[in-house]
Amino acid sequence: MSQRVAPHDQTEHDAVDRYGAATHAVFNQPRELADYNLFSGDAALQDGVAREGAGWASNELATLGARLGSAETLELGTLANRNAPELDTHDRYGNRVDLVRYHPSYHQLMRLAVEQGLHASPWTEPRPGAHVARAARYYMQAQVEAGHGCPITMTFAATPSLAKEPDLARHWLPKIHARVYDPRNIPAADKQGLTIGMAMTEKQGGSDVRANATRAIALGRDAMGETYELVGHKFFVSAPMCDAFLTLAQAPGGLTCFLAPRWRPDGTKNPIQIVRLKRKMGNVSNASSETEWRGALAWRVGPEGRGVATILEMVAATRFDCMIGSSAGMRMAAAQALDHCRQRRAFGALLIEQPAMRAVLADLALEAEAALALTLRVARALENRAAEPREDAFARIAAPLGKYWICKRTPAHAYEAMECLGGSGAMEDSPMPRLYREAPINAIWEGSGNVQCLDVLRAISRAPQTLDAYFAEIDSARGADRALDAHVAALKEDMRDLGDFESQARDLCDRLALALQASVMVRSAPTASADAFCAARLEGRGARNWGALPKGLDLAAIVKRALPR
Ligand SMILES: Cc1cc2nc3c(=O)[nH]c(=O)nc-3n(C[C@H](O)[C@H](O)[C@H](O)COP(=O)(O)OP(=O)(O)OC[C@H]3O[C@@H](n4cnc5c(N)ncnc54)[C@H](O)[C@@H]3O)c2cc1C
Repeated sequence: MSQRVAPHDQTEHDAVDRYGAATHAVFNQPRELADYNLFSGDAALQDGVAREGAGWASNELATLGARLGSAETLELGTLANRNAPELDTHDRYGNRVDLVRYHPSYHQLMRLAVEQGLHASPWTEPRPGAHVARAARYYMQAQVEAGHGCPITMTFAATPSLAKEPDLARHWLPKIHARVYDPRNIPAADKQGLTIGMAMTEKQGGSDVRANATRAIALGRDAMGETYELVGHKFFVSAPMCDAFLTLAQAPGGLTCFLAPRWRPDGTKNPIQIVRLKRKMGNVSNASSETEWRGALAWRVGPEGRGVATILEMVAATRFDCMIGSSAGMRMAAAQALDHCRQRRAFGALLIEQPAMRAVLADLALEAEAALALTLRVARALENRAAEPREDAFARIAAPLGKYWICKRTPAHAYEAMECLGGSGAMEDSPMPRLYREAPINAIWEGSGNVQCLDVLRAISRAPQTLDAYFAEIDSARGADRALDAHVAALKEDMRDLGDFESQARDLCDRLALALQASVMVRSAPTASADAFCAARLEGRGARNWGALPKGLDLAAIVKRALPR
């Protein structure tokens, strides 16, 4: 990212102008937000990491934060999205190759993410706070660029599903967990590091994968497990250069989960053929494809007929990463807006000091902080769920709620942040259009909004203790804020009768998510931010736009805390 110098100094302009080389001085234009530390410059992130049990990672996070915030690394994110991946179905001799070519910057970001263990660290180095530390690293990396997060997330999320098959796990997990990124289109046996994709969605159904029509024909058994051949299609397969894909197909015993490699163990190409790459509105650096499966070899993962249950463990982890990714998008959008407004003047004063703009910036900052606070709380719950039943029950409901709410808040947030930069915010050489186009994606994949809301209902009706755990969490903030107490009391009343939940799903889930965010803010954020969040989000004042905050809040303190440093 180039450093633009704003020559505020009139003598410089005069000097240039003497030689007739300048038509005008460039002034009152901000410098690029670059060469800053994404960890040490983010007070909410530092507080959250310490609060949720990963304080031990602070030094390492600060080192990474400096690297990710450097102009050089930020430029990788720009280049990876300016240069979309391209598909070669065949080589020049007519051989089928199914090769996606990416810009080198994409590979550099992938290598950085893998070397940092974003794809595996909680599995390979488990310790209290490991999930929180990984979430913090992912949060910073996603601020640089979102698209490469897709294969990183899928690789991370594959471990719990693959661990169900010991033979398969023994062969695959060591290389999946290695901190080695090898993008070559060659068999897994010849590589030291592997990535994993996910192929579920078909033309006739994405949310409802029971509609999958891809057939699985049993072949026999080899050293890695029960083998099958898959015949069918998948309508969305992102990161098709992954080394293997967790997928679903109809086996004789019903919908079943499989692991299909890109190359067969005998060194021949597995016939998973890429038909075309999708033309996406955002997430440009990441290739997403349509594929034909023409007798592709695959190993069964989990029992026949238990496909959804088996792959759901992977999906749960990918949904959590959507929370991190959208929180990161909001942080970057807020940071860009804040940084611009602290440098740009209009009508005789810096924008950041003008009351109407300060209210908008404070509101954007509150949303970003609340998203991060909830995300890190859920990271701790996901980590503790195996040992603590209450955390497990809490995570079961908090993860779909958080995925639904945070991802849904991001597009409007990105749009408002863009407007803070004025006309330049809408230009393609600003980071804002990319943040804006990226913003809706997380809400759609890995279970769209309604699907998340219905998942909350499923959790509550199958295991009522999930709702108990949720309210126990909220009640730990009882008495701290009158608006929150009133909000929770009304919510408890309305949650007594779940008979009409589906038609009320959005209303109830919005209120459940807001109560959760508010309670996390009350227990963890500075008073100015927590008070403002509760007042702005819980005191019903009808439809409103960003910056329409109640009177009497300490907006200067909120803005100061959020400034990227
Ligand atoms: C960029 C991108 C990359 C993707 N990559 C992958 C990938 O790698 N692998 C993969 O398998 N998939 C991938 N997907 C597909 C994605 O997961 C699906 O698009 C998503 O699950 C929705 O499925 P669908 O498109 O079939 O929509 P549908 O299932 O038809 O849903 C349409 C709408 O209906 C709503 N809806 C569904 N059921 C109900 C209900 N019972 N009540 C009320 N509303 C309902 C949904 O919330 C949604 O808003 C990707 C999608 C995108 C956008």
